[in-house]
Amino acid sequence: MTALDLTRPTGQHTRRGDRTYRASRHAHPIKYLLPLVKESTPMIVVMRSTATEEDLAAVIARLEEHGLTGRVTYGEERNIVGVIGANIPPTLREELELLNGVQEAVRITRPYKLAAREFHPHNTVVDVCGIPVGGPGCVIIAGPCAVESEEQIVTTARAVRAAGATMLRGGAFKPRSSPYTFRGLGEQGLKLLALAREETGLPVVTEVMTPTDVELVARYADVLQIGARNMQNYQLLEEVGRTGMPVLLKRGLSATFEEWLLSAEYIIAQGNPNVILCERGIRTFETATRNTMDLNAVALAKRRTHLPIIADPSHGTGKWYLVQPLALAALAAGADGIIVEVHPDPDRATSDGGQSLTCENFAALVPQLASVAGAVGRAIVAQEVAAGR
Ligand code: PEP
Ligand code: MN
Repeated sequence: MTALDLTRPTGQHTRRGDRTYRASRHAHPIKYLLPLVKESTPMIVVMRSTATEEDLAAVIARLEEHGLTGRVTYGEERNIVGVIGANIPPTLREELELLNGVQEAVRITRPYKLAAREFHPHNTVVDVCGIPVGGPGCVIIAGPCAVESEEQIVTTARAVRAAGATMLRGGAFKPRSSPYTFRGLGEQGLKLLALAREETGLPVVTEVMTPTDVELVARYADVLQIGARNMQNYQLLEEVGRTGMPVLLKRGLSATFEEWLLSAEYIIAQGNPNVILCERGIRTFETATRNTMDLNAVALAKRRTHLPIIADPSHGTGKWYLVQPLALAALAAGADGIIVEVHPDPDRATSDGGQSLTCENFAALVPQLASVAGAVGRAIVAQEVAAGR
């Protein structure tokens, strides 16, 4: 099903672009798939690139014999027939696959469609300034919970860069459970992140909390983070979807796997397939740790969706000394990377100090991550890739 390759670039997004954010030169395959998805298509028939008009007509005629309708979407490389109708005979798939020109017929059973593996069997590789997320390599995103000062963010960025991190994280807009705690430096924090990027070459991952801030944050960020508390803020999801930029979608505190994938669907349905899922722990009956890292979800994601998935053992555990074991476990479970909180002086951090690694602890973790990645046939994405952007 290469015709449905959602990873095909549609033109570069511009970090500092205008409200349209990207120059689209080619229509994305999603454009063709969307009308089918909106009609709750229970099955799609993928035609071979060599299929003729007669082959297509024969498929539609066969569907009509069964009281179904075929809706053709004409792709650049090949055509797809969406099957419309409620009663799909159990043998229809085999029957259609015997017809000339049919590559395969795929049953779409999940409520999320564009995010489903069935729609797109190949892994989506999200390109972050030349760094592939979801490819053969694993990425390491590191940095403080919140940007606090120029010295703090630049020191941390240099340290994590030296230790082997591939991207820098840091919040300028902080969702806090209490309105009386530090809520971030806002645009000043974004400017400091941009400065740290200039100093180190590391792309910046940072959270955007409201639809009206998307334009501002998109001017500074390389990856827009949607926080756990906003996973079901559908207007925000649509707004980041419209940017076309890479989006790090954290799982909601009490969200099921399916709800999380449906949130990804909101972003992709805006024509933006650049979604990176992030498992960051969920609420369970257990109170010994801040959250419970759901590593089942990491492994399940590799099966159910083509989107990359990374793990956040900092929020997943809430304890700095549990970050190392869970980070290693996440890579072993198939995660495409990890995101961890690192602070030069965790005891004085304005937020999440108790779950932040020191720069030294982070430096010790990186070679261990490389060993585990190697054990599962992968590697850490080389920094040359990051530096060569
Ligand atoms: C964060 O990354 O600092 C953060 C607030 O994460 P989450 O939304 O997962 O709680
Ligand atoms: Mn945090």
